[in-house]
Amino acid sequence: MASAAQTAGRDPASVTLVAVSKTAPQTAVLAALHAGQCQFGENRVQEAAEKFPALRTDWPDLHLHLIGPLQTNKALDAVRIADVIETLDRPKLADAIARAADITGRLPGLLIQINIGDEPQKSGVAWQNADDFIRTSKQRFGANLRGLMGIAPLGVDPAPYFARLAATAATHGLADLSIGMSGDFPAAIAAGATHVRIGTAIFGAR
Ligand SMILES: *Cc1c(COP(=O)(O)O)cnc(C)c1O
Repeated sequence: MASAAQTAGRDPASVTLVAVSKTAPQTAVLAALHAGQCQFGENRVQEAAEKFPALRTDWPDLHLHLIGPLQTNKALDAVRIADVIETLDRPKLADAIARAADITGRLPGLLIQINIGDEPQKSGVAWQNADDFIRTSKQRFGANLRGLMGIAPLGVDPAPYFARLAATAATHGLADLSIGMSGDFPAAIAAGATHVRIGTAIFGAR
């Protein structure tokens, strides 16, 4: 990450590593915490709820990002346990998150996931609806709406997809850009990623 940042002429400290610990046991999370890593990503609310809340007492700096597709019926639990939900991608989910925030009195940071490769099997807002959904969500959630998240298609140069997402975030004045995984994080850092989500390269193959 540091060398990718240097190559891109960026300060390495401007890119946050989110360690994606899905399927990794809590012992692996603990080992990462002891090594100084405190931002984690999980796909499933249930798995995150089993692994993370108990760690917060000893690790007050721990930050949990939910990065998987989120069902509306999991929104309440998600809002209870997450520091950041990276996968806001539809009005019904925005409604459920707003309701959960009313109930719990807490609202995590939010990123809107865009389906940057227009892939039918992937979640995320379609490009054609992105500007409208970003504007509406910004009005609704204010500064809690922090940025955009995307997953590049496999097997092609991710750079143009990342660049389009970065430009969209800039247009809307959103600071956070969560792009880049084990296979493509240098390109994401070159495109301006503020957060990279790395699983395999840290915890091994799933
Ligand atoms: C699993 C996952 C990652 C991590 O992918 P790796 O290739 O293991 O680094 C990142 N983002 C999302 C949304 C994921 O589901």
